[in-house]
Amino acid sequence: MSLAGKVCLVTGGSRGIGRGICLQLAKENACVIVNYSSNENMAAQVVSEIETMGQKAVMYKADVSDFDKVCKMVDDIVDKFGRIDVLVNNAGITRDALILRMKEEDWDKVIDINLKGIFNTSKACVKYMIKQKQGKIINISSVVGIYGNAGQVNYAASKAGIIGFTKSLAKELGSRGITVNAVAPGFIETDMTSSLLEKQEDMISKIPLKRFGSPQDVANLVAFLASEKADYITGQLIVVDGGMSL
Ligand code: NAD
Repeated sequence: MSLAGKVCLVTGGSRGIGRGICLQLAKENACVIVNYSSNENMAAQVVSEIETMGQKAVMYKADVSDFDKVCKMVDDIVDKFGRIDVLVNNAGITRDALILRMKEEDWDKVIDINLKGIFNTSKACVKYMIKQKQGKIINISSVVGIYGNAGQVNYAASKAGIIGFTKSLAKELGSRGITVNAVAPGFIETDMTSSLLEKQEDMISKIPLKRFGSPQDVANLVAFLASEKADYITGQLIVVDGGMSL
């Protein structure tokens, strides 16, 4: 499953699932661009871990909801490395509240980063991928985008939107040799879920595999979807939740 020679951009790569994806792609010999929005130290740590493995990595600061900054990032990557092979849209946030308490800005912020963000990065990368006649786009959705969750109308709408986006873009780009897939994690142990997981230990009893997932569980699937082994898979949503949604 080697990704040798592949240039891969991972948004929100400084921690959690994004960090796990960056490290796994590097283990498969890819050159990794670790995108981050604020935490420079953590992004630098990921880069240094990858360099210790003997692989190439660079960090790039850009807020995925800012179209111009994203375009500049992707143009700079192509200037420096000559191509962009894999885009992993991982960056995401939550601003949870029941709808009566949810502020308009909580709605806007989540949609801007989680959904508009993948439009921005995909649009910026696709023009290069079309020229290359190959490319892989992998979008991190969520089981919440399929089943919904009280207190998360903004997040669930953004993650459901990612599924429609993925299927539509897969249809647009299939004839250009570009695949577009989505991954829907269940409960994965990261900073995003730390408070939730403490409160919801009983959730484990609802998971057939009897544990929460790890970033590595998601990263393994992403690395597969980024590889040539997944060349005939497009427009799919693959759930990584230990069977929780069965
Ligand atoms: P996390 O909060 O640990 O990491 C999110 C990353 O996105 C951080 O590095 C953050 O800095 C980055 N980010 C946030 N806003 C950004 C912006 N505007 N521009 C660029 N980067 C930005 O969360 P995580 O659990 O690792 O989640 C990663 C992805 O997986 C998210 O899209 C999340 O919705 C999704 N997800 C997580 C779980 C889970 O259980 N942890 C479940 C389903 C889906």
